[in-house]
Amino acid sequence: MSQDIFVVIEHLRGEVAEISYVMLAGARQLSQSSGGNVTAILLGHNAQGLTGNLAADKALYVDHAALAEFTSDAYITALAGPIREHAPRAVIFGHSSIGMDIASGLSAKLGLPIVASCRSFTAEGKFVSQICGGKIMAEGDLPGPTALVTMVPGGYKAEQGQSAQPPAVTTVPAPTLEGLRVALKQYIEPDTSDVDITKEAMLVSVGRGIQNKDNIGLANELAEALGCAVSASRPVVDQGWMPTTRLIGKSGKRVKPKIYLALGISGAPEHVEGMADSNVIIAINTDQNAPIFTVAKYGATIDMFDLLPVLTEKVKQAK
Ligand SMILES: Cc1cc2nc3c(=O)[nH]c(=O)nc-3n(C[C@H](O)[C@H](O)[C@H](O)COP(=O)(O)OP(=O)(O)OC[C@H]3O[C@@H](n4cnc5c(N)ncnc54)[C@H](O)[C@@H]3O)c2cc1C
Repeated sequence: MSQDIFVVIEHLRGEVAEISYVMLAGARQLSQSSGGNVTAILLGHNAQGLTGNLAADKALYVDHAALAEFTSDAYITALAGPIREHAPRAVIFGHSSIGMDIASGLSAKLGLPIVASCRSFTAEGKFVSQICGGKIMAEGDLPGPTALVTMVPGGYKAEQGQSAQPPAVTTVPAPTLEGLRVALKQYIEPDTSDVDITKEAMLVSVGRGIQNKDNIGLANELAEALGCAVSASRPVVDQGWMPTTRLIGKSGKRVKPKIYLALGISGAPEHVEGMADSNVIIAINTDQNAPIFTVAKYGATIDMFDLLPVLTEKVKQAK
């Protein structure tokens, strides 16, 4: 058993996923109370270069053709050995479809407990998890001796998990990866014909408060005047009022524009997860108790239908 903290690096199409850096930042904090090292675990094929900017004390790299693309079968098989052998204090995964898939499989395979939806760690090494969809924060001791932890974004900045000093990399031989039951058949590229909302410097974002598809024209007019794009919360996309390419949040995209104008969006945790890193959040909502105001820098308790035509006109005049 060791006091080290393992972080399973998530990557896709040759890029380290942002959550990996958030996990490394969390691991660094946890290692201060556990007294161990932060070890990044990278599985892949010809992917060792991805360790370059990981803020870890060391990295274990497992290379195999079957690990070139994520499959739960191959990842669980490849991770079980190092976890059994080192018995670290904690193994951190992203609370993503990939991370949850591996963590739950390993929990069953190795009989280890899982702490889910962890947002941060306290100075004493306690986990802080968001439960009930983020409405309640729960704090507790990590179960031992080895705890599997899935981590949500929001507790640490990605930059905190990056370093100009690459970690020392140890290549670990891959186990036998034959007879796997899951294989990647095809990678389907997402639709890129629409505007990429992750690259917009400003977003006008609409929620269920917009009421119907026709009213989206009002948001479009404002966005056009401002020279930016319109994005949306899930109910708006689920109703078919806007395409899924504009969805922000847990099941959509993560954005961090300079300005995020939230119109008629309540601020549910699943939405906030996708936009909390925006530079300046401005919320417009008729309900003064809407949770969106807790993440907004500026806000107004006002009916968006009173505001939109006036604001659009003012922006046009200012130009
Ligand atoms: C597994 C899972 C994944 C999810 N993923 C996502 C996701 O990726 N993205 C996402 O957004 N949601 C997601 N959700 C849904 C999420 O929980 C919320 O239901 C959703 O974000 C609510 O959207 P909303 O704020 O637009 O609607 P509501 O919560 O209905 O809020 C509408 C707001 O508009 C305000 N309003 C009404 N009329 C006006 C007006 N005239 N002027 C100003 N304000 C007005 C109301 O006061 C209210 O606050 C997910 C849920 C689950 C369970």
